[in-house]
Amino acid sequence: TQAKESMQFQTEVDQLLQLMIHSLYSNKEIFLRELISNGADACDKLRFNAISDDTLYEGDGDLRVEVEFDEEANTVTIRDNGIGMTREQVIDNIGTIAKSGTKEFLSKLSGDAAKDSNLIGQFGVGFYSAFIVADKVSLTTRAAGSTESVTWESNGKSGFTLEAADKASRGTEIVLHLQEDEKEFANGYRLRNVISTYSDHISLPVMMYKNEMPEYDEEGNVKESDEPKAKEWEVVNKAKALWTQPKSEISDEEYQEFYKHIAHDYTDALAWSHNNVEGKLEYKSLLYVPAKAQMDLWEPEQRNGIKLYVQRVFIMDDTKNLMPNYLRFVRGVIDSNDLPLNVSREILQSNQTVESMKKASVKKVLGLLDKMAKNEPEKYQSFWDEFGKVVKEGPSEDTSNKEQIAKLIRFSSTETDVEKQNVSLEDYVSRMQEGQEKIYYVTADSFTAAKNSPHLEVFRAKGIEVLLLSDRVDEWMINGLTEFDGKQLQSVAKGELDLGSLDSEEDKEEQKKTEEEAQPILKQLKDVLADKVEDVRVSHRLTSSPSCIVLGEQDMALYMQQLMKQAGH
Ligand code: ADP
Ligand code: MG
Repeated sequence: TQAKESMQFQTEVDQLLQLMIHSLYSNKEIFLRELISNGADACDKLRFNAISDDTLYEGDGDLRVEVEFDEEANTVTIRDNGIGMTREQVIDNIGTIAKSGTKEFLSKLSGDAAKDSNLIGQFGVGFYSAFIVADKVSLTTRAAGSTESVTWESNGKSGFTLEAADKASRGTEIVLHLQEDEKEFANGYRLRNVISTYSDHISLPVMMYKNEMPEYDEEGNVKESDEPKAKEWEVVNKAKALWTQPKSEISDEEYQEFYKHIAHDYTDALAWSHNNVEGKLEYKSLLYVPAKAQMDLWEPEQRNGIKLYVQRVFIMDDTKNLMPNYLRFVRGVIDSNDLPLNVSREILQSNQTVESMKKASVKKVLGLLDKMAKNEPEKYQSFWDEFGKVVKEGPSEDTSNKEQIAKLIRFSSTETDVEKQNVSLEDYVSRMQEGQEKIYYVTADSFTAAKNSPHLEVFRAKGIEVLLLSDRVDEWMINGLTEFDGKQLQSVAKGELDLGSLDSEEDKEEQKKTEEEAQPILKQLKDVLADKVEDVRVSHRLTSSPSCIVLGEQDMALYMQQLMKQAGH
């Protein structure tokens, strides 16, 4: 056996621990949620690996997490018989937080306990929450299929030690030596209470010893029993996969708690859709719309998303095959009865079943959002403010649902002239003027620029509403969104503006006169600008600016041209 070996934390780890302990102090019981969820994850991994190699079970397939406490010693122990870790894995996963995100995590800590505990999940530093209540943590683990075990120990301050151990059973055992003033957690009621708050929905049993009721004699004195009774385990959480239960038996609190578990979020979800699909395809899905954007929403490789299960066995986190990009903020579970248990990432990419489940799930999410927009406009607005820029990728990405996505989009508009995007295309259409056939918009690279665009003058003068687009994604969105409700979307900066039908007879007379009068100067201008522009025309789109540049109908909008230039085209 190897001697005890000391290692240093990376510099950030000390810092991380101090900040985390400080900022989560008001919510310290989450340490139990994090450690139980790690145990449950470890069991999921074992079950998945055992699909192809069932010797990994070593004859013990009864996967569970056990929680024990010792009031006298002031300790809490969390134990699982999951996949365990090798010495190297302990160093990689627990020892160093060598994960690239740590620095970023630190920079994002805000001091707000609710926000920060959400970050912990997203960055995968949950294990360290143990130090919120413990001044020493001792982890002993044996990986499935291995004979060697190792003990990792740390006070959370001066690095950690590693030492060979002789753990017979597979899995991981974590002993928390509680700080003097955290004694409250070495208590059965307190622990049960925390477990049922945070871990009811974990599909794995979380076990504790039964409360031992003392036996009394006739006089009401505690019986002195000669033989100590063998302690008995009992399951203290509900231990049912939430999505397999009937909707009518699930409370909103349970839905929310499950959401927080799978999404590593601390805030409640905005809405969810729970479906039990039977027939040609059989699957269950539970899909959530979060309230707050995940940190990695704009990163190409984001964590989590939809969790794929096959017959209740966790298979993988999948973000690409089960939800399109423009709905990448959706969190949830899809549990299929049709896929093989040994389904691989490669199979997922071109699988008919997966494709159908995806299609139906997209419809569910769009329906959920549509309902929210209609029935809870304020909630919907908060959704839009948070995720609107993502949904705007929809019309180009998902042409089959274009019309439905279009209804969900919210715009800034000259109607309100405020930056808040709260005008729908339906609102716009309902306000269209007699004779107006198109939906007008202007794009610019800021809201102020859009709002002050000279192209708007004639529209403002005539009282015609124009949508003001200034998000980076808007040109891309407009590419996919060419019409709505049978009406064409028309840039006010492109081509001929046919506002003719909206002009009165007098206006038209007036315009004709102006055009005739302008002929000489037009000719002069054309000569001077000959090699710079295609044409010089009298415009009726301006009321106070003397001139403006107009793009041909086929030209890329200016902003798109700038984007392409920036991208090096
Ligand atoms: P996360 O669970 O988000 O990855 P944690 O800090 O909670 O982040 O855990 C870090 C890593 O340590 C896990 O990803 C896992 O590889 C490993 N780990 C933690 N607890 C256990 C356990 N009980 N059994 C096996 N591996 C574990
Ligand atoms: Mg974890």
